[in-house]
Amino acid sequence: MLTYDEALERILDAAGDPLSAERVPLGEARGRALAERVLATEDLPPFDNSAVDGYVVRPEDTRDARPDNPARLTYRGDDDQTAGSKPSLTPVGPNAAVYVATGAPVPPGTEAIVMVEDTAEADGQRLLVSAPGSSRYIRRAGSDVRRGEVVAEPGTVVDAGLTGLLAALGMTTVPVSARPRVGILTTGDEVVPASATTLEPGRIRNSNGPALEAAVWDAGATVAAHVHAADTPEATRDAVLALAGCFDVIVSTGGVSMGKHDYVKAVVEEVGALDFWRIAIKPGKPLAFGRVGGALFVGLPGNPVSSLVTFELFVRPVLRRLAGHADVVRPRAVATLTDDLPHTPGRREFVRARVEWRASDGVCLAAPTGAQGSHRLSSMVGANALLVAHEDHGDYRAGESLPALLLV
Ligand code: AMP
Ligand code: MG
Repeated sequence: MLTYDEALERILDAAGDPLSAERVPLGEARGRALAERVLATEDLPPFDNSAVDGYVVRPEDTRDARPDNPARLTYRGDDDQTAGSKPSLTPVGPNAAVYVATGAPVPPGTEAIVMVEDTAEADGQRLLVSAPGSSRYIRRAGSDVRRGEVVAEPGTVVDAGLTGLLAALGMTTVPVSARPRVGILTTGDEVVPASATTLEPGRIRNSNGPALEAAVWDAGATVAAHVHAADTPEATRDAVLALAGCFDVIVSTGGVSMGKHDYVKAVVEEVGALDFWRIAIKPGKPLAFGRVGGALFVGLPGNPVSSLVTFELFVRPVLRRLAGHADVVRPRAVATLTDDLPHTPGRREFVRARVEWRASDGVCLAAPTGAQGSHRLSSMVGANALLVAHEDHGDYRAGESLPALLLV
């Protein structure tokens, strides 16, 4: 049986390159991955400006300025450089000061600025300066980004910071990788639409379908179709073929285990190619991965928790890879258990937990969200991490640390 790492590597290898690029308005690129390297077309900031509200001075005129020995400079209000001012063309003269607001252009040849806090105006024409002017208050043109410099590499997520930078550079559209289109296939004769108001004995509502839809959207992909197949080879085959013709990825749930009426794996072998089936993990051992037509196929187990956890572990990374993201796996941290955690060696177990930072000592604490049965959907609620219990380790004790995949 494959390990978690082997299975993930095989799935990502099979996913290959990101989907094609498309240009979208900057405001619609949020959360998506850059499809091309972006170069700065201009200097940022575009002109030398002040980092503080202060006065431009010559360094030699304020070198010895102190509160008990202020420098006395002449100051003319008509020369003020305020935000949006046209840059002055006249350098600051000897024993003079020019007011400059934060972000306003500084006069040519500016070498030093003194903060307003270190000055006092006297009789409208004189300025008392009680600290030496400093060059560190000057923000030079291009000191953030130089024209021609790489701003971001392909695969970088367009977050608020990058959005700001691209806006500053005047980019109104952004090349991003296309969103993967996902077809969801739910299976099972016992499964009725989630909208059912009453349930016949033995029937359950389709909860995996809506849950997987939410997970697909959260991953930045698009739910293109959601179909349900009864537990017959024909219905399963028809559904798989219909989805394979249209979409990038097919995600099925249920019908992939050892049951008499589990047909998903056999259908993938028949109409496509099965790469592997079963991974040494818990929850979610029976997972079928392969290809049908042009689509990747991931057959997730039917148990609601197994289905969502294996989506998180394998489908989300595939969708992120196809969507062009450089980071496809969640960030990890080390967390310390608040409670004992039973764990049987042999399979890697992914334990739903709530991780919280304890301010008093900076420790990241992990509290499992109750019994870990793979039917217990309630164990997913409020979980913000999957603790990774290793296959070579037995039960864990409260106070022991283990890696956590952060679902944030
Ligand atoms: P299976 O692998 O098809 O035997 O399914 C395993 C378990 O998951 C069974 O208890 C199914 O009833 C349940 N299950 C399968 N599909 C769904 C679904 N779409 N929504 C909720 N539970 C499901
Ligand atoms: Mg079933």
